[in-house]
Amino acid sequence: MNLKINAILADYDGTLAPINVSREQSKPSKELLEALKQSSEKVILGVISMKDYWFLKNRIPFAHTYGCIGGLEIITRKKAFIRKLAANKLETIKKFYDYVNEHHEKSCIKIEIKKLINKKIAGLSLDWRNCQEIPPIIQHLKNTAKHFNLHTINYNEPFIDIIPIEPNKGTAVKFIKQLFKIKGPILYLGDSTLDNPAFKTADISIGVISHNDPKILEAQFLIDFKDVPKLLKHLIKTDMTFTNKLPLLKRGATQ
Ligand SMILES: [Mg+2]
Repeated sequence: MNLKINAILADYDGTLAPINVSREQSKPSKELLEALKQSSEKVILGVISMKDYWFLKNRIPFAHTYGCIGGLEIITRKKAFIRKLAANKLETIKKFYDYVNEHHEKSCIKIEIKKLINKKIAGLSLDWRNCQEIPPIIQHLKNTAKHFNLHTINYNEPFIDIIPIEPNKGTAVKFIKQLFKIKGPILYLGDSTLDNPAFKTADISIGVISHNDPKILEAQFLIDFKDVPKLLKHLIKTDMTFTNKLPLLKRGATQ
């Protein structure tokens, strides 16, 4: 199998940047950043992440497109689009944010706000990594989010995301495909179950083995996190021709 790819779309946390580090330290390695930059000169490069635009554009400024907050907002160099269902719930997210602030006594929980390009609040991340144990208020806030009809994403990690609607990275991939009129194969890289809809939509799907059990990834191939720069360098060298013969690749669940 030899395919000349037209686009590389990738998740961020655990795929392009290490996962178990602070927000400040979350960056792609120099080697990976250089390979991404060179790739962006040859194909459409997009990042589809739970993070917001303001975070992503600082880390990977040269991407053609960002699928932010799980693809609720898609941003290109010229335009920004938001999913209508999410746009309709921005008031509710703001109310929830006010509620969290009223009920969250000065504690070990860190609140991170996810903002749209127009700076409106579109989601929250509650992080209790600095707490000794899970604070009881977390369960209360999860229940409240449900009551507000908002969507909570649980990770097997000490943080949750609360956003207007369920994210769908597959929808984001389809939207980007149409927007950029991408005719040829799209390669997608991701490391969690949130990436499974995108794996299905892409032509070549590669699961990144970082902290998750790779069995949960519905991808054609698997690659170790540390080998992602090597994969990109190989693509650059071969004028973006993907081959399944690369020794870096392991067989994934859907192959
Ligand atoms: Mg990830």
